[in-house]
Amino acid sequence: MLPPPTAEPVDIGLPWSNRFAALGPDFSTALQPTPLPAPYWVGTSPASARLLGLGAEWLTSPEGAALFTGNTPIQGSQPLASVYSGHQFGVWAGQLGDGRAILLGETTTGLEVQLKGAGRTPYSRMGDGRAVLRSSIREFLCSEAMAALGIPTTRALCVTGSDAPVRRETIETAAVVTRLAPSFIRFGHFEHFSARGQHGPLRQLADHVIDHYYPDCRLADKPASHSYAALLRQVSQRTAELLARWQAVGFCHGVMNTDNMSILGLTIDYGPFQFLDGFDPGHICNHSDEQGRYAFNRQPQVAYWNLFCLGQALMPLIEDEDLALAALETFKTAFPAAFDARMRDKLGLLQPREDDRGLIEATLKLLAAERTDYTIFWRRLGHYVAGGPVEPVRDLFVDRRAFDDWLLFFSERNTVENRAQSADLMLKTNPKYVLRNHLGETAIAQARQKDFSGVQTLQRLLESPYAEHPGFDDFAGFPPDWAAHIAISCSS
Ligand code: AMP
Ligand code: MG
Repeated sequence: MLPPPTAEPVDIGLPWSNRFAALGPDFSTALQPTPLPAPYWVGTSPASARLLGLGAEWLTSPEGAALFTGNTPIQGSQPLASVYSGHQFGVWAGQLGDGRAILLGETTTGLEVQLKGAGRTPYSRMGDGRAVLRSSIREFLCSEAMAALGIPTTRALCVTGSDAPVRRETIETAAVVTRLAPSFIRFGHFEHFSARGQHGPLRQLADHVIDHYYPDCRLADKPASHSYAALLRQVSQRTAELLARWQAVGFCHGVMNTDNMSILGLTIDYGPFQFLDGFDPGHICNHSDEQGRYAFNRQPQVAYWNLFCLGQALMPLIEDEDLALAALETFKTAFPAAFDARMRDKLGLLQPREDDRGLIEATLKLLAAERTDYTIFWRRLGHYVAGGPVEPVRDLFVDRRAFDDWLLFFSERNTVENRAQSADLMLKTNPKYVLRNHLGETAIAQARQKDFSGVQTLQRLLESPYAEHPGFDDFAGFPPDWAAHIAISCSS
């Protein structure tokens, strides 16, 4: 039985501030989530529960499931769907918006709480406002895995499911992911108002973002245009750092449309993402991306392209083209610097040197030649530097000479370092466990049978990805042959 739509709001002890709602009706539409029948628990992240100050045990009660599926209103929340636009696959797509995500509001912890898959909104277009169990589990697990890897991301508090059917390529079932972030504002929010010539709301949005998330950008002694340019510069910087982390860990987002780019430089909107198995720089993880626009090695360029769209959207506020271009230039220096820093950590290089780029490039070239398993290589290399035998690393390569030549290069550079410290850095930087596609698929297959232990196991491993977790080596092994045939599209 569904609770009546007018169910009394329940006080769950969260203090709400709802600053996005306060921006007014140009930015969003107030509405209630659409209930789902008989919601059940799929997974909870204790770490995210702690961020909100909620007890994880209480959450998993039937009352908790009803609340975080959107069936019971939460006292103090002000549910809304926000409007944005964006470029999809390089083409202006016009108005999009939260078509299935409903922002419950912001709590005084500084985190907004959003239900993804909670029903139709005025921005649903042809969509049903729902998300399926499979993609919701992937988003839940990956959000928390990325956070544990130290990669900026929206978080996931929990996933609930329902047997309500949802039509995609086949009939699947519905689920809701509860996401947390300081803000879900995207590049596309700015593009929306700019494209419509709504410069008042554009400025209001930029001021909201500066005041709440980038206070350093407020330059009191300069004309306002300089504050907006400073915002573009800082977003470029954060985006560069995010991309450096994605590239270093081997994460492919898959749908880097401007509406999937966070103004805070967070990983957002997990769809057909993938952690690389073998190192294939041109890997395309999104089955719907026929041109390979979002191939792994194109991600930094695409990020810059997206920042350019943001810059264009901000032009009515920045006014001076040179100022905007100078802000965007930040990405071009910040990305390589951040990427080299991340790769130095992976290589255990404590002291940066001018010529480190050479070793970084040689390493990536070595891995690309045989599509060597990206995660396993780095982890084994860390164990070797920690004093282990070299064979587990060398055994990853058919071309032993190429490996030995590279090892000489690496050893000459690495021996300059304090070996124990170097190994320590490597084992804290190169994860043992990442959310490979096949691991997710196995947990999803179990979850479809209402066995959520696989989701729970993965969540536990991925929340400390650098720990050894004795007994779970299978989760850190090579992908099975069938993993190469997993096709993940935009359908979610
Ligand atoms: P995505 O590719 O998931 O980032 O979504 C792109 C746009 O389509 C966003 O505006 C989403 O809100 C919307 N969208 C995706 N799936 C659905 C759905 N099932 N129902 C309504 N809107 C959707
Ligand atoms: Mg999206």
